[in-house]
Amino acid sequence: MVRLVLYAVLLILFVRAALRLWHGLAEGVSGSPRGDASTPAVQMARDPVCGTFVVPERSLTLSVGGQQLHFCSAACRETYRARRS
Ligand SMILES: [Zn+2]
Repeated sequence: MVRLVLYAVLLILFVRAALRLWHGLAEGVSGSPRGDASTPAVQMARDPVCGTFVVPERSLTLSVGGQQLHFCSAACRETYRARRS
């Protein structure tokens, strides 16, 4: 019985993940979110040092080879710089 509940929870989690993936793909294909101003899709960027997802506008940035990298903190940015050199 416990196992059945576990399977049910796993199934729900899987379906939710699949739906989220599907929505992401659909949005990526259409290119423009259909005027849904109430829920603006915030594009999260990943800190390459610690793996934290950050909001690009509020993050610390570093341009590397024409690519903009986003960091959660100055410490992470310095760590990245130190690793590169
Ligand atoms: Zn970080």
